[in-house]
Amino acid sequence: MSNRFLRKAQPSAIVEKLVAKAVLERNLINNEDRILIAVSGGKDSTVLAWALSAIRPEIKKTYELAALHISSDFCACCKKAILSKRLDEWGISFTDLFVPIIHRLKEGRQMNCYWCSTQRRAELLKYATENHFNKIALGHHLDDIIETFFMNMTGKGQLSTMPILLHYHNYPVSLIRPLAYLEERELIACAAEKGILKAACTCPYGLKSVRREIRARIADFTGNSGAVKRRILAAIDAGNLLEQ
Ligand code: SF4
Repeated sequence: MSNRFLRKAQPSAIVEKLVAKAVLERNLINNEDRILIAVSGGKDSTVLAWALSAIRPEIKKTYELAALHISSDFCACCKKAILSKRLDEWGISFTDLFVPIIHRLKEGRQMNCYWCSTQRRAELLKYATENHFNKIALGHHLDDIIETFFMNMTGKGQLSTMPILLHYHNYPVSLIRPLAYLEERELIACAAEKGILKAACTCPYGLKSVRREIRARIADFTGNSGAVKRRILAAIDAGNLLEQ
């Protein structure tokens, strides 16, 4: 896609084009797939749900879409009714699953993002497997992937990130990230155009996130340039880190 298109197109058209591009280039969706979209109620996963429904004519594949929202004992999405209505308009069924994440902590252990994500991922995989979904779609975008790359490098001494396509060996499910070619600001613009509410994360445990610090540093050295971020993604791809 030319830069001219990216400059002139409506935000929703950019999202459709770049989601279709990721899906086709990375072979993320095949005919007869049953795809479970993890929806938090925030703009990223809601835009993802809309886009996966909207790109059907362009990618010419037949697949089923359903959405799962995980409610927890500390961070509730208060816009579930609106979310469910929107998903219904896009032909996507909605399920809300309660998971007592804090309650599962062993005595003396502190709540943290790692524990929370592990619990959520386990429940997502369990639900997908039990309900015969073969793909799980997550709403992580280009900025998330780059941030994770630098967090893993500086924090763990590892060259790794969130893959765009991940095949699990112990589950009959693959994980896909169709928003991988989109910057967060492009998703914000699309959400505004489509009237998708921007639900800020109110989680009290996320406030001191290392991710926020890394995000600011990346903005600093890339000058927030989309072209530079896409070159970083290309370099990560050249290291074979985007498919597992
Ligand atoms: S910010 Fe809150 S909801 Fe998000 S992963 Fe961390 S603990 Fe979980």
